[in-house]
Amino acid sequence: MTVDADIVLVGGGGAASLVLAALEPSPDLRVAIVDPVHKRGQDRTWAFWGTPDPFLDPLLSASWDAVDVVTTAGRRTLPLEPMRYAMLRSAPLYELAAAAEARLGAVRLTVPAESVSDDGDRVVVSGPGGPLVRAAWALDSRPRKPRRPGRTSWLQHFRGWWLFSERPVFDPDRAVLMDFRTPQPARGVSFGYVLPVSDRFALVEYTEFSPAVLSDDAYDRALRGYADLLGLDLSTLQVREIEDGVIPMTDGPFTQRPSPRVVRLGTAGGATRPSTGYTFSAMARQAGQIARAVAAGRPPIPEPAYPARHRWMDAVQLRALDRGLLDGVAFFDGLFDRNPAGRVLRFLDGATGVREDLALMASSPLLPMMRAAAGDALGRVALRSPFHVAVPQEARRTQDR
Ligand SMILES: Cc1cc2nc3c(=O)[nH]c(=O)nc-3n(C[C@H](O)[C@H](O)[C@H](O)COP(=O)(O)OP(=O)(O)OC[C@H]3O[C@@H](n4cnc5c(N)ncnc54)[C@H](O)[C@@H]3O)c2cc1C
Repeated sequence: MTVDADIVLVGGGGAASLVLAALEPSPDLRVAIVDPVHKRGQDRTWAFWGTPDPFLDPLLSASWDAVDVVTTAGRRTLPLEPMRYAMLRSAPLYELAAAAEARLGAVRLTVPAESVSDDGDRVVVSGPGGPLVRAAWALDSRPRKPRRPGRTSWLQHFRGWWLFSERPVFDPDRAVLMDFRTPQPARGVSFGYVLPVSDRFALVEYTEFSPAVLSDDAYDRALRGYADLLGLDLSTLQVREIEDGVIPMTDGPFTQRPSPRVVRLGTAGGATRPSTGYTFSAMARQAGQIARAVAAGRPPIPEPAYPARHRWMDAVQLRALDRGLLDGVAFFDGLFDRNPAGRVLRFLDGATGVREDLALMASSPLLPMMRAAAGDALGRVALRSPFHVAVPQEARRTQDR
């Protein structure tokens, strides 16, 4: 039997959980969810910043009003107030979403969606056995690739260990946002970070922004090396959980409205910031916009995750890093050195205005960025050319130098 709904969530992960939790129950609102997996428990940890939020803050495992950025030259503590850096483990968000789902009387179909077809009046979501849901709107967050490959396609890839110690070894008041003392890859940027939830329990992670993932062994080696740098004696610590992840960092375009009644959300809808892989704040912001629109009887269409100007700035930065025009560590360190932390973090959330963006651009190394901007412009022109032929990323690196 086909379920009739006002909104169907196709994909029930991070983005959809935030939407479910934000929607106000109403007798006029019928919600359906289609996902082969009912997400529960701990499968990821979200770190993000923003001003305290009455809806998310009760779910947080920890939050910090200052974070450290560390390089071989020293440690810089960035005061964040009125913002805070926050850690949300997935389990409480999935629980909140499950409670919201029950309140909304939502129908859940634990099958994969195979097609989402929109005739302009209704959307029909079909699975392996045929039509599943007929809805006025579909919010589709199924993972997908960008519409076309990016001119630069990197990954934020990482492994984290949740480390437990019998005696106090972590300082719960100090979170490390980026610690660039890790050995740097030949191409890309690496850093470690430490997010302590208590003096005995912390997430210690090794992250790279680079074109390709590492082997299992290489992540473990990198993490052991980072633990050494932190002065942690791993023989006295237990690895309670391991967290692996790969997040796209690309200027490849993600379509937010593939058809009139389908809205893409989450990473599939362009909520992942190309320059960093951060996604959570944009997903939360869009969930709020959707819930407010629905409550006001408007279509559930959020604003684009980031302004076009920020996507361009990210494309230039990614290009400069990828083509070796910019030293990654010096770039990120300089960004925090020459700008108030709040400005950088608001920029990364897509929340800065033109004046602040100009200040950020002025604090970046001029020549490499100009060369990358020129390369980006040429890349855009080439894409529009009828003679365009895709050039492998390796070859593009040589061309730009
Ligand atoms: C381990 C990890 C840690 C991360 N940490 C951070 C962080 O600290 N900060 C940050 O800002 N971002 C972080 N991210 C990035 C981003 O916030 C998350 O990936 C986030 O979960 C993205 O939400 P989403 O809804 O787009 O995708 P997902 O949460 O992956 O949800 C996609 C859903 O689609 C479902 N699906 C797949 N195929 C189908 C189908 N055929 N039909 C129906 N449903 C389908 C899947 O089962 C899944 O439930 C992290 C990502 C990972 C992987």
